[in-house]
Amino acid sequence: MEDWKRIYNKSERKIYMVGDLESYVDNKIKSQDYRKVRDDYVVQCPYCAGDAYKEDTSYEGHPYLKRKLYVYLNKQAGHCFRCGRVFMNLSDKLPETYKLPEYNLNQQDFQLCKLTDEYWNLGLFRYFSEYDERGYQYLITKRHKYMKDLYKILKFRFFGENPVIPFFYKGEFIYYQIKYIKHQHGNLPYFSPPIDYKPPYIIEKSINEKFVICEGVFDAIACLILYPDRTPFALLGSSITDYQIAMLRSYVPQDILVYCDETQLSVRVAEKIMQYINYAQIDIVYSTGMDPEERLKSEMAEI
Ligand SMILES: [Zn+2]
Repeated sequence: MEDWKRIYNKSERKIYMVGDLESYVDNKIKSQDYRKVRDDYVVQCPYCAGDAYKEDTSYEGHPYLKRKLYVYLNKQAGHCFRCGRVFMNLSDKLPETYKLPEYNLNQQDFQLCKLTDEYWNLGLFRYFSEYDERGYQYLITKRHKYMKDLYKILKFRFFGENPVIPFFYKGEFIYYQIKYIKHQHGNLPYFSPPIDYKPPYIIEKSINEKFVICEGVFDAIACLILYPDRTPFALLGSSITDYQIAMLRSYVPQDILVYCDETQLSVRVAEKIMQYINYAQIDIVYSTGMDPEERLKSEMAEI
């Protein structure tokens, strides 16, 4: 059934359960075994509910009393008020719910959206460790050798063994993503704390006029090496949102190169950007079937 991975965070003295929280909650909703309390779904905790039910006969006939796991509406994080475990959802991409509410591009002033989640807030970042041996080994072996210095320059931290990647906008810390390194299905997932507008991952330079737009965080890092004269800007997906366009536009870019994993996706992203940034030079990189990081690795191998 459910496969939860347990992570103990020493500094917080909290146990985090990492797994497919979204499916877990969806199944509870499907079988009507849940209740709604304000902005939460309240479901049975996969760990402590069974025992409590057995020990306390007063629960009999009141099955809803078993439910103590409060999960946010977006199903990305939850907290069990009986056993204190914190749950977090794993996914490769930010869920669809992040597209709502719709961002209004015509808005005069660009409204920066920062991470303010109750559990996963910016303040928590400083409690993540600056170094973890397993996390570091993952970066330099599974990603590439440039990570040896880059992880420090890019201000990575570690949550257990998992790299935590901070996001900045004009020098300001706005968000972070956790790269979960032990995932058995090839495509390694991220934990993306809930936020109203999905931010791009930008590796800012002193001058940001020429951009290269790509899909993921590690593609952006590869683009930093492949295109040293450009500012990498990752979409955390294969399409660009209105909010991300507004953010991109705030730099007044002169030259934009779009490099998604597939040519068709790059065309779509470039076309959308053209509607809003029509003065800039916009080009795409034709895909050879490799994403930017794979290309970097193959070029490294040739040297
Ligand atoms: Zn529990």
